[in-house]
Amino acid sequence: MTRTLLDAAVEASTCTKCRLAGTRTQVVFGVGNPDADLLFIGEAPGQNEDKQGEPFVGAAGQLLTRMLGDIGLTRAEVYIANILKCRPPGNRDPQEDEIDACTPWLVEQMSLIQPSVIVTLGNFATKFVLQTQTGITRMRGSVYPWHGRKVIPTFHPAAVLRGGGEKGRQFAELQEDFALIKRTLTEPEPPPPPPPVTSLVELERAAAEPTTIPDDQLELF
Ligand code: URA
Repeated sequence: MTRTLLDAAVEASTCTKCRLAGTRTQVVFGVGNPDADLLFIGEAPGQNEDKQGEPFVGAAGQLLTRMLGDIGLTRAEVYIANILKCRPPGNRDPQEDEIDACTPWLVEQMSLIQPSVIVTLGNFATKFVLQTQTGITRMRGSVYPWHGRKVIPTFHPAAVLRGGGEKGRQFAELQEDFALIKRTLTEPEPPPPPPPVTSLVELERAAAEPTTIPDDQLELF
């Protein structure tokens, strides 16, 4: 039998691979469409998420839901997950061994969902996924190829709220990034690149050959 996202979630719900098992209320595995084209990755559950068992349900989550609505999407159409599935006490930064222990869940989520576009929310998720030291302010606004998929980093909604929300400097850039997400999801795949020119001789031969117009196209001229 093939393993589903639900199977993985059930197994993760009793995970004890790191110390966070001792302080969490529950595992916050992820939420949304198991077949989504678009996957959001945050850092770790906060207090509200730990209580409710769903990622991004607090104030930051409300902003994420609103930004999705602005590009015509609902939470049910995308998939939302975090790097860590359990809340670090007091919302402290995730520790190296916690990330190592938890990464297999995220990898499994990605391989079961197969999203074409992955949005990393904030510095932590962006640095982790793209293996970069460059901060989110410089990384955002672009699409990065990643294992045959596309990664679009943007600000963490909690950071946007801390910066003043709609009145803050980052809000317009968050909107730009969501417009970029929409364009990236809807733009047609580029045509495959032409085959390589194997030798200059072939290139010259091709150039020397007279161009013939097929009979059925002659009437177009
Ligand atoms: N911040 C995150 O990174 N993830 C959540 O689920 C909530 C807040």
